[in-house]
Amino acid sequence: MSHDDHHHHDHDDVAVRAAALEALLVEKGLISTDAIDAVVDLYENDVGPQNGARVVARAWVDDAYRERLHANGTGAIGELGYGGFEGDTMVVVENTPEVHNVIVCTLCSCYPWPVLGLPPSWYKSPAYRARVVAEPRAVLAEFGLELDPDVEIRVWDSTAEVRYLVLPMRPPGTESLEEDELAALVTRDSMVGTGLPLSPTGAAA
Ligand code: FE
Repeated sequence: MSHDDHHHHDHDDVAVRAAALEALLVEKGLISTDAIDAVVDLYENDVGPQNGARVVARAWVDDAYRERLHANGTGAIGELGYGGFEGDTMVVVENTPEVHNVIVCTLCSCYPWPVLGLPPSWYKSPAYRARVVAEPRAVLAEFGLELDPDVEIRVWDSTAEVRYLVLPMRPPGTESLEEDELAALVTRDSMVGTGLPLSPTGAAA
């Protein structure tokens, strides 16, 4: 399908429609502004990159789980309790010494909400959306991520239907760490592909 098919409105239009719908629902007494605020608060504070970090850490310590992530990302992520809105079909792309993956939505801002929360503003910017496709190596360098020229960069274009999550490589020197300690090393950007996990000493691996 073309990218035009899956977005009938740009996101400004969606925001206006959402605001109008909210006003109508509140006026009719069908929903309170408190309930709406609670949903927004949920996605701003409770559903965020910490969810994706737990998925990544589990994959690092459990080969069978990692295989399930590849076979059925949505199902394996659901095993940890994450799913639903803006995450109907999740595909996990794994970094290797030869391939580095990065995600984008070239048309707007499709993003894997259940594992990463709401997208950062740069992810929604026209500059990122256009340039990461045309010159990914230069864009990643601007994020401070200098990849070896031999590493292939694969750019995955998210859609309304399919949302990608990058499974970064486990940093060296983490052999003795527990799953929770590993999760603390997994940054949001490392799961978008614009960064790497932290090293055990706190520096980028
Ligand atoms: Fe989009």
